[in-house]
Amino acid sequence: MTTHIIGAGLAGLSAAVTLAGAGHRVVLYEAGPAAGGRARSYFDRALGCRIDNGNHLLLSGNTAAMDYLDRIGARGTLAGPGEAFFPFMDLATGARWTVRPGAGRLPWWVFARGRAVPGVRLREYLKLLALGRAAPGATVAEVLGGGALYRRLLEPLAVAALNTRPEQALAALLRPVVEETLLRGGRACVPLFAREGLSESLVDPALAWLAARGGRLHTGRRIAGLRIAEGRVAGLETPDGAVAVAAGEAVVLAVPPWVAADLLPGLVVPDRFEAILNLHFRTEAAPGAAVARAGFLGLIGGTAEWAFLRPGIVSVTVSAANHLVDLPAEAIAARVWGDLRAALGLPEAVAPMRVVKEKRATFAATAAQERRRPGTRTGLANLALAGDWTATGLPATIEGAIRSGRAAAEVLLAA
Ligand SMILES: Cc1cc2nc3c(=O)[nH]c(=O)nc-3n(C[C@H](O)[C@H](O)[C@H](O)COP(=O)(O)OP(=O)(O)OC[C@H]3O[C@@H](n4cnc5c(N)ncnc54)[C@H](O)[C@@H]3O)c2cc1C
Repeated sequence: MTTHIIGAGLAGLSAAVTLAGAGHRVVLYEAGPAAGGRARSYFDRALGCRIDNGNHLLLSGNTAAMDYLDRIGARGTLAGPGEAFFPFMDLATGARWTVRPGAGRLPWWVFARGRAVPGVRLREYLKLLALGRAAPGATVAEVLGGGALYRRLLEPLAVAALNTRPEQALAALLRPVVEETLLRGGRACVPLFAREGLSESLVDPALAWLAARGGRLHTGRRIAGLRIAEGRVAGLETPDGAVAVAAGEAVVLAVPPWVAADLLPGLVVPDRFEAILNLHFRTEAAPGAAVARAGFLGLIGGTAEWAFLRPGIVSVTVSAANHLVDLPAEAIAARVWGDLRAALGLPEAVAPMRVVKEKRATFAATAAQERRRPGTRTGLANLALAGDWTATGLPATIEGAIRSGRAAAEVLLAA
C-alpha cells in the first residue's frame, strides 16, 4: 500500500520511516531542493564550507529521536562529550562553570563542587518539581524565575528548548522536557549533536534507508492543493499535474503550519512565530579544556547563547530572536563577535561570517499558541497531520517533530 507524504522535514521522514518499517510503500513530495526542512546542511559558497542552517542539540533522553537514529543506523554520526557535561560562561562577570549531572536519577550531584551550578541553594532545585504543579497558563518565569539556578541553567535551557522568552513561554511545555531529561538524571542529559552535519545525521541516512525499502523522494515538488472527495483525499495537485490517491492509499501532511492551513481551509494552526539566528564564523577557536571536550559552550549575559565548535568554524545560536532578526547581518555579527572574543579568546577583527536568519523557526511557545495546535487526526479518513507544531505536548523540537511523524503513521496504520 502506498502512503503519500507531503513535506520531507523530520516529521515527514519520521512518518515515512515508521510506515516503510510496517511494509508501506512511501512517496515523499518536498517543495525545496532537498529534504530536511528546518534541519539541513548545505555548502556555503562565501564561507567555502558546508554549514547547517542552525546548531541543533539533542539530549540522550530524546527517546523518539534516538529510536529514529537507531532505526536508520545513524546514532554513530552524533558527537558530544559522552556524558552530561555543559560548560557555561557568564559574559557579564567572566565566571565559568560546568554543570555535570550524575548518571543516575538521585540528584546527589547538586551538592558536588565542580558538578553543580555554583551559588545555588538546594531549595532552588526543588523548584523544578513545581513545574509538575504549575497552573495552566503559567509562564516559565512565573514558575521557575529568580535565583542563580534559573539564571545559570534553567533560563538558558528553557530559551533553547522553547525558543520563546521565559516571561511568555508556557511552563507546561517545558515540563515534559525537564521530566524526560534533567529529572531522569545524567544518563538522559548527554548532549549530542551532528558530528559532520544535520543532513549527514538526520536526513541522508533516512533517505538511504527508505530507498532500500522502495521509498521515493520527489524534490522540487510543491503540493499546491488537495483534491477532496467523499470524506477522503483523492488527489494531490502538483505544478506538473495531479497525482491520484487511490482507494486504500493514505496521505501525511507534514508541512509548516501556514502551508497546512492553506491546503486544509478551516484548520486552526499556530500563527505566531519566533526567529532563531545562527552565525557561522570561519575561524579557529582556542577553547579551554572543558569547551574543547564538550564541543560547545553556553553563554549567558550577552547576545550569543550557544557556541558550537567544529574544525575551522564557530557557529553561534541566538534563540527567541524576533527583536534582532531585522537588524543588518553585520550589526548582529558585531554584537555576537564581541561575546565570542571574550569567551573564546578570538582576535578583534570579525572573521568571515554568514548570518542565517530563520524568521519562522518555531511557533511561539505561549499559552495562546498551544491552544491552536491541532491533533494528528483530521476530518478526512485517509489524512493525518505531522509537524513539530501539532499537539505533541512538546515544544517545537526534533523530538516533537519525530514523535508527530510517528503518531501520524500510527493513526494511518491503525486505520
Ligand atoms: C535554527 C534552528 C535551530 C533549531 N535548534 C534545535 C535544537 O537545537 N534542538 C531541537 O530539538 N530542535 C531544534 N530546532 C527545531 C527543529 O529544527 C524542528 O522542530 C524540526 O526540524 C521541524 O521539523 P518538521 O518536519 O516539523 O518541519 P519542517 O522542517 O519545516 O518540514 C516541513 C517541510 O515541508 C516542506 N514543504 C512546505 N510546503 C510544502 C508543500 N506545499 N509541498 C511539499 N513540501 C512542502 C518544507 O520545504 C519542509 O521541508 C531548531 C530549528 C531551527 C530553525
